[in-house]
Amino acid sequence: MTLETISFDVNDLSSVVDGEFAMMSGAKTAVVAPATGETIVELPSATVEDTHAAIEAAGRAARTWRFSTPARRAEVLLDIANAIDANASDLACLESLNVGKPLAAATEEVAGAADCFRFFAGAARNLEGKAVTEYVDGYTSMIRREPIGVAGLISAWNYPLMITAWKLGASLAAGNTVVLKPATQTPLTALRLAALIRDAAPVGVINTLFGSGAAVGNTLVESPDIGIVSMTGGTPTGKGIAARGAETLKHVHLELGGKAPVIVFGDADPVQTAQVLKVGSFWNSGQDCGAAARVFAHRTVYDRLVEELVGQAESLNVGDPASSNDIEMGPVAYAARQREVLDLVDRAVSEGAQVLTGGRALGERGAFVAPTVLTGVANEHHLAKTEIFGPVVDVQPFDDDTDVFALANDTPYGLASSVFTRDIGTAMEASRVLNFGTVWINDHMPMAAEMPWGGFKASGYGKDQSMYSLEDYTQVKHVMIKLG
Ligand code: NDP
Repeated sequence: MTLETISFDVNDLSSVVDGEFAMMSGAKTAVVAPATGETIVELPSATVEDTHAAIEAAGRAARTWRFSTPARRAEVLLDIANAIDANASDLACLESLNVGKPLAAATEEVAGAADCFRFFAGAARNLEGKAVTEYVDGYTSMIRREPIGVAGLISAWNYPLMITAWKLGASLAAGNTVVLKPATQTPLTALRLAALIRDAAPVGVINTLFGSGAAVGNTLVESPDIGIVSMTGGTPTGKGIAARGAETLKHVHLELGGKAPVIVFGDADPVQTAQVLKVGSFWNSGQDCGAAARVFAHRTVYDRLVEELVGQAESLNVGDPASSNDIEMGPVAYAARQREVLDLVDRAVSEGAQVLTGGRALGERGAFVAPTVLTGVANEHHLAKTEIFGPVVDVQPFDDDTDVFALANDTPYGLASSVFTRDIGTAMEASRVLNFGTVWINDHMPMAAEMPWGGFKASGYGKDQSMYSLEDYTQVKHVMIKLG
């Protein structure tokens, strides 16, 4: 698969500023296919000056877009959803090529992105203030929920189109204008979408720049003209953004890493649970902040679960997604990731972990990592506390007298968790005690556009999807009117 076979040309991947394709003034940067290591395309990168130009364009557009009616915003969001549907096949191929996702997975994500824009189209028309009433005698108070202004959207490389939909959908629905910066490694679907929707919104409402975190991202974070920065990525990057964003007291919305624990109680079916974990741990090559990374299994089901999970991992059809529609797992998203993941596995082994399957690179070329199952990773080991972001899961047994909720909560992260049990009391207790932004019961991974996604602790703050997300991209104004 190449750009030509997906049927569009490099101009369709230009940055867009003020409604026009814009030539960026920085050096060309290669965008690489992780399955082959080959360059897909070289694109000129945005500089600090290019970024300021985009921020100015978004600022000009914000003066009128902020007063657009919810119906108008919904119209734009529906046009974007329709554009995605109309180009779904190309977008899925592009995502598959650039991120190394199996085509079926990329196709599902493209449909999910369109659905997300449709959700925000509805949400735009349902944003409510609090009741209008007289809280003080002689005065009527009312609440207005208003856009923040210009949103700087900094996306990650693991779900490029989906994360774009979460951030862009909420920003536009709330009445903000945007400067969107996709990750340098995987910018292609966001750039293609920007070209497709160039006319969907008024000029300057949606600006999209290809460029690095150091140049574009940092300028968005430091600019006093950006009202909110919304970033998905690693915790260290998020901490830096929060610190630098404080200089201008901008709103900061961070969806950072995770290390999701899975608790399998003795009454759960280990075979069905292993089937769920095949998806939960290895979907998108494990490059998911909510991936099922660390399993605590009751000793009565531990052996069976481990055996099944190893079988599921070894059954995965791993390869270049372009080679067959039956590929279930592709490479990790870029070459350096392969080394980082394998280094983390090696370090775990040096601390006492056992590799039951995987733990090595696969193939002659491309950034492939074999689906990996480890045991013997204690909570004090480095891997237990570190986001691996690769196709690696570890399984540990626990006993009746173990406080397994305490073990599961003993992580710097707080994004997602899951529990497998047939007992409603155990499930309810888990949902109360587990300190994570999402608790799944008897599954791991499903999401809904209507429901929030976002973490606690080192996983950041702010919610993606749902009305909570829309609220994050607004600010509340109190209007107090003297009667009489
Ligand atoms: P980063 O956190 O570096 O990148 C995320 C985004 O932030 C990218 O668009 C990046 O730009 C941008 N960025 C980087 N530096 C700055 C900066 N100084 N100011 C503003 N923006 C910046 O992720 P990595 O690719 O380095 O991944 C590191 C780890 O983060 C992964 O191994 C994983 O653990 C975690 N991660 C979590 C994700 C999640 O879904 N929560 C997604 C991706 C990663 P650019 O890449 O263009 O330089």
